[in-house]
Amino acid sequence: RVKTKWATSLPRYPATNMALQYFDATYSLQLGRLWPSVRCSLLSERKYGALLNNFSDHQAVASDLQEQGCWDFVSPAQLEAPLSPIRPEIEGGPEDVAERSELKGSHGSNQDNSPLSLSSNIRCFVFPRADITRFKSARPDQTRLLGYYLMDAASVLPCLALDVQEGHSVLDLCAAPGGKTLALLQTEAIRFLSVNDSSVARTSRLKNVLHSFVPKHLLSTDRLRVTSFDGTQWSEFERNTYDRVLVDVPCTTDRHSATEEDNNIFSKIRTGERKRLPQLQTDLLLAGIKAACPGGEVVYSTCTLSQLQNQYVVQQALHLARQEGIHLQVVSLQPLVRRLGGTFHFAPDLLLGEMVVPHLTANFGPLYMCRLRRLC
Ligand code: SAM
Repeated sequence: RVKTKWATSLPRYPATNMALQYFDATYSLQLGRLWPSVRCSLLSERKYGALLNNFSDHQAVASDLQEQGCWDFVSPAQLEAPLSPIRPEIEGGPEDVAERSELKGSHGSNQDNSPLSLSSNIRCFVFPRADITRFKSARPDQTRLLGYYLMDAASVLPCLALDVQEGHSVLDLCAAPGGKTLALLQTEAIRFLSVNDSSVARTSRLKNVLHSFVPKHLLSTDRLRVTSFDGTQWSEFERNTYDRVLVDVPCTTDRHSATEEDNNIFSKIRTGERKRLPQLQTDLLLAGIKAACPGGEVVYSTCTLSQLQNQYVVQQALHLARQEGIHLQVVSLQPLVRRLGGTFHFAPDLLLGEMVVPHLTANFGPLYMCRLRRLC
């Protein structure tokens, strides 16, 4: 635990207060009646999931977790009644008519509704709804690999949405500290994984995570490459390359901003950085789109509720991509929502993508994701 600061060194306007003021003003409009409950959940203890490490002695670890009362929410056998009503198909479109046709896809149908094959290899254990038991720290097995990685269980969803298939090449553009990279590796289907994060310090944390969870032979350079480049410039050295691209961008990290003073993007000194976020996010998504091969898919994700950083960024990137001759189709994530509605609380009526909203009985997220397919 971090020591509380002395009153004299406390900022006059704590960043958490600034964040909450901003959230109250924007999210009460955006989420309407949902906001008070989401606000309360954001300020309450978050729930974790234990991403099972298939490279460790996983059967023993899974049995141990089950004995503690956890269950794997990815497994098809685990179905609970949906937390939120499944909403009707998305209707209408953005104001811009051109954007509207883009969202409808190449054949005029409203989004692609093809089924999603959830990778059975990714397993993530959670305590049941309304159970707030904490996980113990993972222990190393005989080969010194840790049995599970603790993360917000909603963070696994973009990896499931990416729908990685056998032999795919995958780019994780903003990867550190590596929770989603680890989830992607659990599929054991990836031929080549390129892992990048512009922060050298965070990339080195990511390398430590990989060494604690993945056997050395799977980290060889012919299978995995770790870089620390500015992701917005990715197309300068690789284009039209990957079957799958994950673009998990920096954002206002709403839960952190509402509760922690340290490293808070709402602190006065970081105002410029915060205001530049939507532009940076758009640049990163556009770079990810260009890095995907035609027919390949991109998942954009954030851990904010902000429409400005979620749907608007996706719309803007679709628009800019089209100007460069790249056409995309939005792929429906409804199969995922239907399947996981018993574990997560999903926001209703989003025009683009899906969003897990924190709920006191399922305090995961926020997590926004949107799946795009490159048509050409
Ligand atoms: N995907 C990670 C995970 O699951 O552990 C979390 C990623 S975090 C939300 C966003 C990351 O983007 C940060 O680690 C940050 O260093 C990185 N980042 C910020 N600007 C970037 C840029 N221009 N290019 C690449 N990465 C960037």
